[in-house]
Amino acid sequence: METKQFKAESKRLLDMMINSIYTHREIFLRELLSNASDAIDKIYYKALTDDTLTFDQDSYYIKVTADKDNRLLKITDTGIGMTKEELENNLGTIAKSGSLAFKKENEIKDGYDIIGQFGVGFYSAFMVADEVSVLSKALGSDEAYKWESKGADGYTITPCEKDSIGTEIMLKIKENTEDENYDEYLDEYRLKSIIKKYSDFIRYPIKMDVTERKLNEGSENEFEEVVEEQTINRMVPIWKKNKKDLTTEDYELFYTEKRYGFDKPLKHIHISVDGAVRYNAILYIPENIPFDYYTQEFEKGLELYSNGVLIMNKCADLLPDYFSFVKGMVDSEDLSLNISREMLQHDRQLKLIAKNINKKIKSELLSILKNEREKYEAFFKSFGRQLKYGVYSDYGTHKEELQDLLMFYSSKEKKLVTFDEYLSRMPEDQKYIYYATGESNDRIDKLPQTELVADKGYEILYFTDEIDEFAIRMIMSYKEKEFKSVSSGDLGFEADENQDMSAEEQDNKELFDFMKNVLNNKVKDVKVSKRLKTHPVCLATDGEVSIEMEKILNAMPNSQNIKADKILEINVHHEVFASLKDAFEQDKDKVTLFTNLLYNQALLIEGLPIEDPVEFTNNICKVMV
Ligand code: ADP
Repeated sequence: METKQFKAESKRLLDMMINSIYTHREIFLRELLSNASDAIDKIYYKALTDDTLTFDQDSYYIKVTADKDNRLLKITDTGIGMTKEELENNLGTIAKSGSLAFKKENEIKDGYDIIGQFGVGFYSAFMVADEVSVLSKALGSDEAYKWESKGADGYTITPCEKDSIGTEIMLKIKENTEDENYDEYLDEYRLKSIIKKYSDFIRYPIKMDVTERKLNEGSENEFEEVVEEQTINRMVPIWKKNKKDLTTEDYELFYTEKRYGFDKPLKHIHISVDGAVRYNAILYIPENIPFDYYTQEFEKGLELYSNGVLIMNKCADLLPDYFSFVKGMVDSEDLSLNISREMLQHDRQLKLIAKNINKKIKSELLSILKNEREKYEAFFKSFGRQLKYGVYSDYGTHKEELQDLLMFYSSKEKKLVTFDEYLSRMPEDQKYIYYATGESNDRIDKLPQTELVADKGYEILYFTDEIDEFAIRMIMSYKEKEFKSVSSGDLGFEADENQDMSAEEQDNKELFDFMKNVLNNKVKDVKVSKRLKTHPVCLATDGEVSIEMEKILNAMPNSQNIKADKILEINVHHEVFASLKDAFEQDKDKVTLFTNLLYNQALLIEGLPIEDPVEFTNNICKVMV
């Protein structure tokens, strides 16, 4: 049976190519410059094995020339050129990649610099041009040929004159339309910025004639315009340089040039990996929070390069959310690009790189914490909240990874401390890691609930961010020590202290029941306090929801009015308690009055609103009179 060949509607195919593969028109220039670079690379490879050829770096370059008046954009290279057959095969057949074939013929392994592989990039020229001509003279040939095409209708190839080996691509730039400004592709400044953006690290110089305004000699205010040939691209990427040859200033300059941030980076990380996936990366931990960091608009991600050519501006998959503050770039030769080279075919390599990067960032942060404490604290003040969100999100999946990076203000040290530091100072009889929540360190300092814990000499961690307590609920315990709020019902002290109190509780049972009645459903219980020393009352909680969580949950839109189970704790050693007892014997109305006052005081201390401020002040007046 005869096998029939597929037929392709080449007009439609070309149309599809031109209009649907790329998301950004400006990419045509990246494609043509990559081709030019490939063409020079090919001479370079040939010279490696052919003694009759020499490769003198200086005579190889690419040049971009714009002629506004005639709407022509020219890209010239001194590369290997194309024979008539090659023009026919490579530019006449969609999806035919001479570069891929070259790699195969010459057994060039992956990872070398040749960029082309799909055989479609060239046609992207038709996104901005309605006519394209290619003049080429191949290495070792005396004849030059011209390939010309207006797009879908086909092409012609005719002999022509050309002095030197190489290729000259001429684009007749389209006229502007209502929605599209094509003039920009003839604009010197715009062309320069496109070259810098995508092709900054092409290995050969990309030259352009640039107009500079220069002060006339001997004059103070007369300028003349001078046209100068300049090399636009940087060529050798900083990430391919040896770390030893780079200074902190070099990295800082790269950070500023790349506009990763307007601050000075706190730290840079330069990674070169030659393992299962080869990549280079330069990452930065910024010093300041970008102004939009904690907003919806903020987009995380690293720049992604394939062989020095920019593929993606912000590759989000390279960073987990909790490290979203990290800036920088990754360059790999092992990515499997999709046809537009704006995306990846699959993300296997990317996942490996991301995992690797993640580890490096963590170990770098740990090392800053260990060796440059002040820097770490500055970092933590900016981005600690993000790490805590990281602990909380995804049901605590990342808590193990992140908990060592967390810091909280300590009641004892009066500065930020880590869990490890806390544990290292913990007395032997202490069973829990204690924390207290509140609006600020000052307010927590004054919380009555902290009195007993502090009195026992135990350190307390202060939680002042909304996320703190939620994150800690995810962590639950650190190195087998559970976390405990100083406001929780049971502080977990030794048994003898518990027994003491039950006697007091028994003695005052009737009074407490009465008070509980007065407060109706506002508190779950009224109890003798074990934790109070100098204050008469405080609120404690029983169960999952703390008072701080109640506040946060109720401040959220469409909150469900979640309430903490509150317990009013009374300090039976306080003078106020004596008055309460007296009143209970003589005047029950007074007990009602006192109970309401005490309850409202406790609310105020917690930073909770009191239900009826007018009644509260009236009650105070009653006591005063
Ligand atoms: P790719 O670069 O992915 O192979 P292109 O459509 O951009 O695909 O180019 C097709 C082929 O045309 C290239 O593989 C190369 O062989 C040839 N080619 C394109 N531009 C040039 C050039 N400037 N010099 C020499 N050959 C070129």
